[in-house]
This record gives sequence, C-alpha cells and structure tokens, in this order.
Amino acid sequence: MLQTSAGMQPALVTTGGTLRARRAVLLGGEAFLTGLPDYRRRLIPMASTIMLTVPLTAGQWGQVGWAGGECLSSYVHTTNYLTRTADGRILFGSRGAPYRYGSDMSEAALRENANFGWIRDRLLEWWPSLEGVEFTHQWAGYLGVPRDWLPTVHFDSNRRIGHAYGYTGHGVITSAISARALAGLVTGAPPDPHAPYLRPQAPNWEVEPLRWAGIRYVQNAFFRMDLAETAGKAPPFDAPLATFLGEP
Ligand SMILES: Cc1cc2nc3c(=O)[nH]c(=O)nc-3n(C[C@H](O)[C@H](O)[C@H](O)COP(=O)(O)OP(=O)(O)OC[C@H]3O[C@@H](n4cnc5c(N)ncnc54)[C@H](O)[C@@H]3O)c2cc1C
Repeated sequence: MLQTSAGMQPALVTTGGTLRARRAVLLGGEAFLTGLPDYRRRLIPMASTIMLTVPLTAGQWGQVGWAGGECLSSYVHTTNYLTRTADGRILFGSRGAPYRYGSDMSEAALRENANFGWIRDRLLEWWPSLEGVEFTHQWAGYLGVPRDWLPTVHFDSNRRIGHAYGYTGHGVITSAISARALAGLVTGAPPDPHAPYLRPQAPNWEVEPLRWAGIRYVQNAFFRMDLAETAGKAPPFDAPLATFLGEP
C-alpha cells in the first residue's frame, strides 16, 4: 500500500514493514501494479508465452532459409514474434493464457500445456520442416496493458510518487526510455513537450464483469479470425465488431 500526503515523505507500507522514501517512491511494477488499488483499472495483465528450440543444424537452417537473422513478427491478431539467437536457436513467442476475471495473475494458468502446444503448432506453421524439433526452454509471464495501449510516465511532485507503466509487450526498450523520462521529472529536468507518454494516468478499463466478458470475447474472436485466415476462409461474421472492440 502507498501512504502519501502533500509535504510528507511518501511511504510504502508492506507486510514486512514500512519504507519511507527521502525523495520519492517510483513504481515500475509492470502488470503487478494491478495489485495496488490505484492501478487496478489502469492496466490488465495479459499473458505471453515463449519457447526456445535446441540449436538447429546447418541442414535445418538451410531449409528454414532465415540467413539474415532478422527479427520476425507476423501480423496475425494473436501475435507471433521470433528471433534467431546468436547460438542458432529459434525463440518463438506468442499469446498466453486467456484473461482471468478480476485481473487474476494465476501462475498455474501461465504454465498450462495448451499454451506451449500452441507455440509448437505455430512454429510448424512457419516451417513444417521443423516437425519434431525439440525445445529446451519455455516460459511465460504477464504484460501490463492499458486501455489505450499507450505507456504512461508521471511524477506527482506534491505526493512525491511517480510511475511508469503500460508497455503492452514492448517494454524492453520502452521501459528504459520511460525510466529516463521519470528520472528527469524527479530531478526537475524540463520535460519533453512532445512526449505523448507524459500523462498522469492511462484511461480506466471497464469494471468487472464487463471487462472480463469483453476481453474474453475479443480474445476468442481474434483466435477464430486467425484460424479462418490461415485456412484461407472468409473471416467470421463478427470480425468487424471484434476489430472495433479489440484494436487500440
Ligand atoms: C513472456 C514475455 C515476453 C516478452 N517479450 C518481449 C519482447 O520480445 N520485447 C519487448 O520489448 N518486451 C517483451 N516483454 C515485455 C517486457 O519484458 C516488459 O515490458 C519489461 O520487462 C517491463 O520492464 P519493467 O522494468 O517495467 O518491469 P519488470 O521487468 O516486469 O520488473 C518489474 C519488477 O517489479 C517487481 N514487483 C512487482 N510487484 C512487486 C511488489 N509488490 N513488490 C516487490 N516487487 C514487485 C517484479 O518482481 C519485477 O521484478 C515480454 C514479457 C513477457 C512476460
């Protein structure tokens, strides 16, 4: 819990004790921020899953034909992103467990076999020649996704509390940019007037159970839209509605 009032030192109250900050409390907890009352509707946790193959043989790479090692991504609605690693493996990431009621961040849901089976199947869609290839690592986690899919960086100089969040799965670079911007705000550097992420808060997500119903519907519809497209079929009848609701 955060304890603040203007002119006082901000404090972080935890089950283990209270931490008072001399200068500021800065929150960078990604999807875990949804556990704090002020952030419950600012973000939703969205699961993402990644798997790593064994190093491929020269023959396999010859068949795959990805000599340049470019970062690849497909524009299916459920998102696939791929990297060729320096030691000759394929790192394949895609969707994860569906949204859970009340932004529940279940660890068990992340580890369900179906999520990893989904990645295996997608890899074979890209390269059927990799049938039977083994994976050495698999993991999953939650991303913080705001209602408008845009990041937020803010420092409240009265309460001495700042936050940076909402990278929607692109946080490796964006979190570093946001952290620099946040440090600038705390130390009083003039803010970049053109930085769109400098705003107090992201808009709220809907209240439950509307949020659960809406997100689960869109996740299901995007899945059906991808299946239809892959099979060369016409999109499902509700594709325009799902696109309207689900695209940022
Ligand atoms: C499977 C997966 C794949 C991803 N792939 C990509 C990718 O390809 N490219 C990309 O750009 N981004 C990717 N991301 C997103 C990226 O990892 C994150 O956006 C980025 O790491 C966010 O950085 P951060 O510093 O804000 O938060 P994090 O790196 O998540 O750090 C937040 C920290 O806060 C801690 N924390 C949270 N709550 C508490 C609490 N109450 N008390 C104490 N500590 C707490 C957490 O333990 C964690 O260490 C991926 C994420 C996942 C899960």
